[in-house]
Amino acid sequence: MNIEEIYKKFDKIGCLTFATIDNGFPQTRIAHLFACDHEGLYFRTTITKAFYEQLKTTQMLSICGIFPATSASHDEEGMPYFPPGYTIRATGDIKEIPLKTIKEKAVVNEDFMVCVKDIEKYPATVAFCLHSAWGEVFDFDFEMEHRSHKLLRTGFCFGGKQIPLRVLRITDECIACGECQEGCSFKAIDQVDEQFVIDTEKCDVCGDCYTVCPSNAIEIIINPPEDQPPG
Ligand code: SF4
Ligand code: SF4
Repeated sequence: MNIEEIYKKFDKIGCLTFATIDNGFPQTRIAHLFACDHEGLYFRTTITKAFYEQLKTTQMLSICGIFPATSASHDEEGMPYFPPGYTIRATGDIKEIPLKTIKEKAVVNEDFMVCVKDIEKYPATVAFCLHSAWGEVFDFDFEMEHRSHKLLRTGFCFGGKQIPLRVLRITDECIACGECQEGCSFKAIDQVDEQFVIDTEKCDVCGDCYTVCPSNAIEIIINPPEDQPPG
């Protein structure tokens, strides 16, 4: 996915959760992006807010949202129902963007004008750019109304970030009993000849196969293990 496609996914949602760290504690608030360009995704706040201090201190941000429904209805058995849609998240590094730069960008991209007008109207407003990030679109159809699997996960990254990996993999210990495939409600396990393989784009990492496997043949792969959070 390119940055315009990523921005459109976020913009379609509108109000997003913006997460920061404040002295080691997670903090969230609802905000939105106002533009994107080749350098990243743009948002704004004011210099008087705790949000601003957290951004300046950590230089990091995580955002996420869901489309189209933000609440679940329930079926006759009380189980939640989400109409097919997607969640999207991105985590990475931010930097403050001077008003002069925002004005220059507004000459070629009118989306930036909203920020120019905002700063002129509310002088404490400042713009930031999420310039280096990784993320994922988690396209879901939990009742399999339109396809034969529940999930389609698409990772993305920009600005030099790598996508951290956390997947399950079937190892050589597999005895081909098929229990994992039978129990996978996400329909994420394929059989090719005698080999069972997990399709990571369809896998929820729910762990059902991991717990039922009689041979302990399913392992969790995390890469890189320490310097980035797992997906
Ligand atoms: S449950 Fe374990 S042993 Fe059986 S097919 Fe799956 S991975 Fe192989
Ligand atoms: S972790 Fe869950 S979704 Fe993924 S292959 Fe195993 S049972 Fe299926």
